[in-house]
Parts: sequence; C-alpha cells; structure tokens
Amino acid sequence: MDFRLTDEQAALRESVRDFAREVVAPVIAEHYERHTFPYEVIRQMAKMGLFGLPFDEEHGGMGGDYFALCLALEELARVDSSVAITLEAAVSLGAMPIYRFGTEEQKATWLPRLLSGEALAGFGLTEPGTGSDAGGTQTRAVLDGDEWVINGAKAFITNSGTDITAMVTVTAVTGTKPDGSKELSTIIVPTGTPGFTVAPGYSKVGWTASDTHELTFDDCRVPAANLLGARGRGFAQFLRILDEGRIAIAALAVGLAQGCVDESIKYAKERHAFGRPIGDNQAIQFKIADMELKAHTARLAYYDAAARMLAGEPFKRQAAIAKLHASTIAVDNAREATQIHGGYGFMNEYPVARFWRDSKILEIGEGTSEVQRMIIARDLGL
Ligand SMILES: Cc1cc2nc3c(=O)[nH]c(=O)nc-3n(C[C@H](O)[C@H](O)[C@H](O)COP(=O)(O)OP(=O)(O)OC[C@H]3O[C@@H](n4cnc5c(N)ncnc54)[C@H](O)[C@@H]3O)c2cc1C
Repeated sequence: MDFRLTDEQAALRESVRDFAREVVAPVIAEHYERHTFPYEVIRQMAKMGLFGLPFDEEHGGMGGDYFALCLALEELARVDSSVAITLEAAVSLGAMPIYRFGTEEQKATWLPRLLSGEALAGFGLTEPGTGSDAGGTQTRAVLDGDEWVINGAKAFITNSGTDITAMVTVTAVTGTKPDGSKELSTIIVPTGTPGFTVAPGYSKVGWTASDTHELTFDDCRVPAANLLGARGRGFAQFLRILDEGRIAIAALAVGLAQGCVDESIKYAKERHAFGRPIGDNQAIQFKIADMELKAHTARLAYYDAAARMLAGEPFKRQAAIAKLHASTIAVDNAREATQIHGGYGFMNEYPVARFWRDSKILEIGEGTSEVQRMIIARDLGL
C-alpha cells in the first residue's frame, strides 16, 4: 500500500496549485462578490487541459484518470470552490455520462468540445419536487415518431446556463416497467432547443461564481437519437455517475478544508492580541492541529476510494464514506478558520468567509449526508 504520489501526479498537483494561487486567487473575490462567472479563468483551465484530465486521448482527453481529476479539484478548492465545482460538474457530471454511455456518434459530436473545455454540459437529475429520492422524477419524455417530446422541470443544475453551455443531459420517465415501477432514461438536450428554457441564475449562499439554474421543458423536442445509452438505463447510469462524483466532491471538500488550514496558519502568525501573535496560544495551535488532522484523514479516505475505483473494485461504500467525512470536516474547518479570524472572518474580503459560505453545500450536493449514511448502511447489509 503506497499513497505517495507518482512524479507525474505530483507535477500535476504543483501546476494546479500554482495556477490557483497565481491566476484564481487574485480575481475570484470580485467574481464571488458580483456573482459573475469567471470565463477567463475557465478559459485558462481549459488551456491547461483540466477538462480532459480523466479521458483517453482517442476522444480528445489528456489520458489521465479520475484520481488526476481529484488532485486538480483539491488544489483548486484550496483557493476557491466556485471554479472547482465548475470543473467537477463539467467533467464528472457533464462529459462523463457521454463518455461512459454515449454512442460513438454522440461521443464524436460532444466530447471534443467538452473535453477541451471550449463548451460545458450540465447534468439534470434533481427536480423542484424531488432530489434525494431520484425515483420520484416527474419529468416525462414521450417518443413521437423519431423525436422525444420532453415536459417537466429540473432544479439547481450546475453549468446549465453559461455562454458556453452546449447541452444538458436530462433524466426523464419514458415508460413503466413490467413490475409497475418507472422506466427512467437519459436524454441529451442541446442548448437553444425550442421548449427548453433556462431560468435566471439562483441567488445562492455560496459558490456564487458558479452557474446554477432551474430548467423547464415545455413540449421540448429532440431527435430519438439523443437517447443516452439504452432506454430504461437512466437509474443505473446516474447511480454510477454519482458514485464517482462523490469521490470528486470529497476531493473538493478536502481542498476547502486544507485552504482553511493555510489561511489560519497565516492569520495566526500575523494577528496580535495581548501583546503576542494569537498563534502563540495553544488554544489556537490545537484548533489548527485538529483542522490539519481532519484534512489529512479525509484525504486518505478519498485516495482509498479512488484507488478502489481505478482498480475496478467495488467502491460505493468507500466513496460515500469519503464524501460524508470530507464534507463534514470541511464544514468543521471552515467554522474554526472563521473563529480564528475573529471579526475579520465575517468579512467577505477574507478567503475564510468564502470557505465558510461554500462549505455547507458540500453536505448537500451530489447526495446529502443522510443519503451517504443510507448508502453505507445498505452496503453493510442493513
Ligand atoms: C448549488 C447546487 C448545485 C447543484 N447542482 C446539481 C446538478 O448539477 N445536477 C443535479 O441534478 N442536481 C444538482 N443539485 C441538487 C442536489 O444534488 C440536491 O439538492 C441534493 O441531492 C438534495 O436534494 P433536495 O435538495 O431535493 O433535498 P431533499 O431530497 O428534499 O432532502 C431534504 C432533506 O431531507 C433529507 N432526507 C431525504 N430523504 C431522507 C431519508 N430517507 N432519510 C433521512 N433523511 C432524508 C435530506 O438528507 C435533506 O436533509 C445542486 C444543488 C445545489 C444547491
């Protein structure tokens, strides 16, 4: 067992770390404050090849793997989570369904633009009336001749409304199975299709420089050939996508947790109270030691889940553990980092204020903490 990075992995981590510090850090606070999407940062991430990291070169990828994506996400989130979630959703939720389940024609149509980062795709699973219980999907798609006619709505869809969004994959009820349960399928809906409306962006607590919209489908027609994979495979497809995505979200959470350590060390050395740096107090040192402990153990959890996934072994439970643990400790670290910053921690100009606002969603998105516990318990035979 060896969790040390290879030279190639370490080099990727270093280059993303430098990029985050030199390119993202100087501009992100303003985007965050104004709720604007950082197109120029995304363009530079695309130039670095980050959007193609876990895909093979044959399809226009960088020939890396999912762990490489996780390393990049961790380093980005160490500085800012809006750009990290933009990359996570673009790769893990946007391009991956096409890569894993698409026909060669669908891959040829979409992957070159998605893997180069020239275009983004969204993943439309959650609906206004149902999230954790994805079986409760209400959106319907009916085959009419050689077209699917889609009616319904999706909520909170990341990357669905940017100027460079090319399409969303949408889960919809396409029939009833012999046992009476819903037949769910996944359909590709290109941006600009008549009947597909993207609502204005939400006003969010955090991730304010990322793109999130409600989508509606009103007699929206797309070719029958836009079905992704086999009809009725929608449920299995999103379970696979979400299992992997949990490792990526865990990496992002570890990045945020580590960013809290970085900022706290810096501040604890600078800030004086009672005639000495606040970091001279063991109460502050212990807080930071505990934060480092949490980031470290959460990192090992996601490394383990990624290693199992890449080895082709079952990884569902480990991915849920990594996501649950990393998101919990990210919230803990953000709270403690804010505390260490005192009143300044409550000011948006300090990165820890962003970390605090960005941490909570990690316990909710891509499966809430309760859902992770349900997955772990089920995997234990309960
Ligand atoms: C910023 C943002 C970006 C997002 N991006 C996307 C995206 O790109 N694509 C997408 O499809 N979705 C996206 N989501 C949706 C996200 O995945 C859901 O919000 C999440 O899965 C929870 O669903 P819900 O909000 O409907 O909560 P609900 O499912 O309504 O849950 C409400 C509460 O009840 C709890 N609960 C539910 N069932 C049980 C149970 N059986 N036992 C115990 N507790 C339970 C939940 O854990 C939660 O605490 C995004 C959300 C946000 C906020």
